[in-house]
Amino acid sequence: MTIRVENLTKIYGPQKAVDNISFELKKGQIVGFLGPNGAGKSTTMKMLTGFIPPSSGNAYIDNINVEEQPLITRSRIGYLPEHNPLYLDMYIREYLRFMAEINNVKNPKKRTEELIELTGLTLERKKKIGQLSKGYRQRVGLAQALIHNPDVLILDEPTSGLDPNQIGEIRKLILEIGSEKTVLLSTHIMQEVEAICQRTIIINRGKIVADAATTELGKRNDTDIVIYVEFSKEISESDLRKIPEVKNVSKGSQPNSWHINTTESQSCKIALNKLIAGVGGYILEQKEEKQSLEDIFQKLTRNVDDL
Ligand code: ADP
Ligand code: MG
Repeated sequence: MTIRVENLTKIYGPQKAVDNISFELKKGQIVGFLGPNGAGKSTTMKMLTGFIPPSSGNAYIDNINVEEQPLITRSRIGYLPEHNPLYLDMYIREYLRFMAEINNVKNPKKRTEELIELTGLTLERKKKIGQLSKGYRQRVGLAQALIHNPDVLILDEPTSGLDPNQIGEIRKLILEIGSEKTVLLSTHIMQEVEAICQRTIIINRGKIVADAATTELGKRNDTDIVIYVEFSKEISESDLRKIPEVKNVSKGSQPNSWHINTTESQSCKIALNKLIAGVGGYILEQKEEKQSLEDIFQKLTRNVDDL
């Protein structure tokens, strides 16, 4: 297991920023760590990289405990922090060489040139970091994370603050790099995990609320199914709500059409049929609406006190 987290917890004063989370990442996966702001993503990543100690629980890289052997585990991790701390007055080359040297890379000069090429910085290579656009600065951040050729990459919101073109380019780069590494990538954007992560772990208020293949997330059976139904005659909302299987109702765009939330799709459809037949009407159209990952995400991370 390249990354393993066991009952990891971080408490700040009265608050559990990370609350007893566990997961494992196999080699070669790109895994999304998805959650709204304040969910505990950065705190988890800082514990994984050994920058802050957990309040309880353990994190392991290649089965080595991060707290016990921070130098060894850090040497195997490439880390792009959320607020990528670059030295704006340094030239790209100068900075990467410096990072190569402090990471004891064998041939810093050669490695710097390799990374400039790999991260698409060739045309900008003579510039100071402060002269670069945010997208290019993020490439420098990725180059820095990769300098010692780590097997594990921890990327904290690598595309936040970039424009759509830059986002596309950085995602492409992560996909390329990620084909040979284990990548844990945090984001608060659902489309990001849909675009690049095979698996998604969703965190909310410090707790893991889902962990599944990204394509499976939309099929979770503990979330609602939405049925779209169009009747030939008017049916009142209160009559729909009387059906025990109906959890929620909202009007559709057509006359006499509704979106109906239920967890019991089959028996709900039968009940709808009976209801309309009882007033001498029939169903013009009925279909299950696929929920987007965004809907699922919103449901899973909706805070109880916001309801
Ligand atoms: P995310 O990266 O998912 O946005 P964070 O891990 O940064 O979330 O933060 C999780 C929670 O912990 C937040 O409520 C945040 O305010 C709190 N927190 C993070 N760092 C500290 C700190 N150093 N001191 C106190 N509270 C913190
Ligand atoms: Mg964060």
